[in-house]
Amino acid sequence: MTVRQKLSATPLYMQILIGMIAGIVIGIIALQAKGGAIFVSHWIQPWGQIFIRLLQLIAVPLVFISLIKGMTGLKDISTFSRIGGKTIGIYICTTVIAILLGLAMGLLIQPGKLVNHEQVAHLQEHYHTVAEEKKLAAEQTNEQGPLAFLTDIVPSNVIEAASDNGKILQIIFFAVFFGLASLALPAQKVQPVIALFNSLNDIVLKMVDYIILFAPWGVAALMAGLVTDFQGDTSIFSALAVYALTVVVAMFILLLVFYPVLVHFFTRINPWKFIRAMYPVQLFAFTTSSSAATLPVTLKTVRDKLGISERVSSFVLPVGVTINMDGTSCYQTIAILFIAQVLGIDLSFSQLCIIVVMTVLSSIGTPGIPGGSYVILAMVLTSVGIPAEGLALILGIDRPLDMLRTSVNVTGDAVVSAMVDSPSQ
Ligand code: ASP
Repeated sequence: MTVRQKLSATPLYMQILIGMIAGIVIGIIALQAKGGAIFVSHWIQPWGQIFIRLLQLIAVPLVFISLIKGMTGLKDISTFSRIGGKTIGIYICTTVIAILLGLAMGLLIQPGKLVNHEQVAHLQEHYHTVAEEKKLAAEQTNEQGPLAFLTDIVPSNVIEAASDNGKILQIIFFAVFFGLASLALPAQKVQPVIALFNSLNDIVLKMVDYIILFAPWGVAALMAGLVTDFQGDTSIFSALAVYALTVVVAMFILLLVFYPVLVHFFTRINPWKFIRAMYPVQLFAFTTSSSAATLPVTLKTVRDKLGISERVSSFVLPVGVTINMDGTSCYQTIAILFIAQVLGIDLSFSQLCIIVVMTVLSSIGTPGIPGGSYVILAMVLTSVGIPAEGLALILGIDRPLDMLRTSVNVTGDAVVSAMVDSPSQ
């Protein structure tokens, strides 16, 4: 077997981990050699920036197309209003609660604060401009009054909105508006557009696939740059371990406390029976890291083992795969706080609010595939003024966390289908 064959036979998450380690080693070597840090910044770091740019490049098309595809998939507005309103309402509530849990855990534990203070000052200087610009913008919004935030969501020019990743909320607004209008029209009139968006969606997902294939190289380059920026300081690794632990604890709170409570109070299913029935689905999601790939198993389990009607499950679960990602949203919040803490960026209250709203809305556009949230995370980071390069810190250890949050995502979908199906609701 050649080295190349060996490499392509290695699972992607392993390649990313290897990339991370290689980046650290390159960074350490560069620190020892004279002029090494400059070499890294001139010849290696740009590859990492290309990776980040690719993630940012695909963000607007991904969110726009997958939102419209998801909405037009709701078939017609009457199906939408019958169980659709209730489903979407519950989905949004569970997502918000998951995000608030992430926010509480991230602010309470503050894993990113474990890094060395001197390094933080150094990095702050490094990333000074972006953070300051955004802070200024946030302060201006505060001066404009409480509803300025709402006004900002409505674009006056959609092309202009699409040209700025920081204005993704405006794109989401346009996509939802577009989706609602196409739902209101007779099916045969909008059929060509639905077909177009379905195939556009496949193309964009393929592009995401390619970008993620580049991740091991991108992560290696970014990591080498971070090590030279951190000047060999290792406190970042203990911070990383605490960050991972924080995500794991948050996921278990959702799985073992939040969902059983919902099942107990809002459905007729016994929480134990629910946990036992869902276990194989969670395991499947854990191994595939993809809620979309798990959908057939989730559908079969909720119908056969939990007795949820076909009418409800065939609508609620496919919609949930696209729009409901409690695990992902909770994790994203912790990740954003962690990166901000490591880079020494203090987030204001209004920035935290933007994070909550952005995460709720952008989780709708997150594809249910392994690493589907990377693009979205890069986008949310940019829009609150945190350098997206910070992603390099967490991508190397992301796979196990991805597996766990996917299990949470599919469980959340099943819980909501049980709640919508329940006559007491
Ligand atoms: N892998 C996740 C899912 O399929 C998405 C993500 O968080 O990256 O649900």
